[in-house]
Amino acid sequence: MTATYITTTIPYVNARPHIGHALELVQADVLARYHRRCGVAVRFQAGTDDNALKNVLAADTAGLGVREFVDRNAEAFGALGDALTLSVDDFIRTSRDPRHRPGVEAFWRACSGDLYRRQYTGRYCTGCEQFYTPAELNDGRCPEHGTEPELVGEENWFFRLSRYAAPLREAITTGLLRIEPAGHRNEVLALINGGLADFSVSRPAGRAGGWGIPVPGDPGQVVYVWFDALCNYVTALGYGQDDPARDGAYRRWWAGPGNRVHLLGKGVLRFHAVYWPAMLLASGQQLPTGIFVHDYLTAGGRKISKSGAGSPARSPGADGPGALEPAALAAEYGADAVRWWLLREVPRVGDADFTVARLVARADDELANGLGNLVNRVVAMIGRYRDGRLSPGPGHLAAPGGEGLAAACRQAGDAVGAALENFDFRQATAAVWSIVDEANGFVNRARPWELARTGPGGDQQLLDAVLAQLLGACSVLGRELAPFLPGTAARVAAQCTPGADGRLPGPRPVFRRRARRARSVPAAGLGVEEPQQEQQHEGADDRPDDPDQVEAVNAQ
Ligand SMILES: [Zn+2]
Repeated sequence: MTATYITTTIPYVNARPHIGHALELVQADVLARYHRRCGVAVRFQAGTDDNALKNVLAADTAGLGVREFVDRNAEAFGALGDALTLSVDDFIRTSRDPRHRPGVEAFWRACSGDLYRRQYTGRYCTGCEQFYTPAELNDGRCPEHGTEPELVGEENWFFRLSRYAAPLREAITTGLLRIEPAGHRNEVLALINGGLADFSVSRPAGRAGGWGIPVPGDPGQVVYVWFDALCNYVTALGYGQDDPARDGAYRRWWAGPGNRVHLLGKGVLRFHAVYWPAMLLASGQQLPTGIFVHDYLTAGGRKISKSGAGSPARSPGADGPGALEPAALAAEYGADAVRWWLLREVPRVGDADFTVARLVARADDELANGLGNLVNRVVAMIGRYRDGRLSPGPGHLAAPGGEGLAAACRQAGDAVGAALENFDFRQATAAVWSIVDEANGFVNRARPWELARTGPGGDQQLLDAVLAQLLGACSVLGRELAPFLPGTAARVAAQCTPGADGRLPGPRPVFRRRARRARSVPAAGLGVEEPQQEQQHEGADDRPDDPDQVEAVNAQ
């Protein structure tokens, strides 16, 4: 069985997390959950970069000690695991984790053939934690931050990156190291073809305020935070430790024949696709097998600044500063609402704009109305017409008129697999969503409430077939949605599972409407509202199942 190791980048903790951080975590979680469901052994790792110089500067600004400041923010990042229902297997904090420092020291020593000391003067952006050459700046300003980098002259350790252009180019062009999407692969190849300059991998300890990992054998210098941070992908596996138990994880997840996949944002592509593979080659290790690069989120048309994510989202629907904090959003609207927006609306290529209004609209239109309504209609009809007893069809077997739905159910699994293989989360969710659309269309065409009549127009046998197919389709949804919406999928699956008495449970909301003012009033009666209304609905046996039919039935 192919082991698959999936990592997110470890963010700086100079502020609390924002919605942009949630994107990468949720994408990685979907891959982890999907592969586990396919029977693949998965390790999903996230963490925080505690040792960055910008953490030190931000702590100064906040008037706090670095340790306290870093711990506080790192805890907020760690809490995203529960808030967003992430199936994280391991979370590494570079300043606290006992595995990290010895691993970085061992990594440094393993690279020693490519390390040398020299005097260097350059333009340094603290925001990026990197030196820029004049050609890389826009009008003398950092391309990421728009700020003017500081002129820094100091003696540093350098890594002989220039040696690795040819092997890196070959790894990427042969697909040994796969970089997706293609635009970013081409960007990396252009960078390599433009010539790779050696880069500095240490800082004077004084400038780092004593924060960070001292260079082995040269305590006046600390390891450059990017060298330090990148090592997390193997130090958390026990790299460089003599403990055989730890070493076992490294052999399994990194040195073995499996997949090693990094997810990252476009701003840190150079570090992951050039520096990191070169460091691995220099230290005699395997390369990652895959790098997936996502673009950026904006919020209300503006770049998300970390300082904007300070206070919790207080008022639903507001797009104020605090509205960008993912844990607050998940608490207010549900983890699945946040996950769904990120997966359904953020394209594989190109930036996406987040607003709370868009998140709520997606959740209400699709999760409450489209999905919640469907499942509740089906379960309510089976309760009413068949006393909750009905064997679900396989979902892909069509009742007359249900061929489109059957095809959607048959194809969803393969389509999701192909889309995720290509890191296309929007396409993957669309494949599942076609089942919801087809099923709702089928209900409206098949009109089970008419088939249920005892008089003319009634057809009990066809009603059985239609309801069985619909219940089968809902079961498929419960299964296929699980990697994307773990909570909602579990509720859908529970609705489709008969109890000990052989009857389906009564209809329960699988997703609650979030907007204060319901968009479409008639649909609200079908189990997407508060539980009290749900109870009333369960007892209302003479009510038609389709809200659109209310007037027609009453007129009879
Ligand atoms: Zn910068």
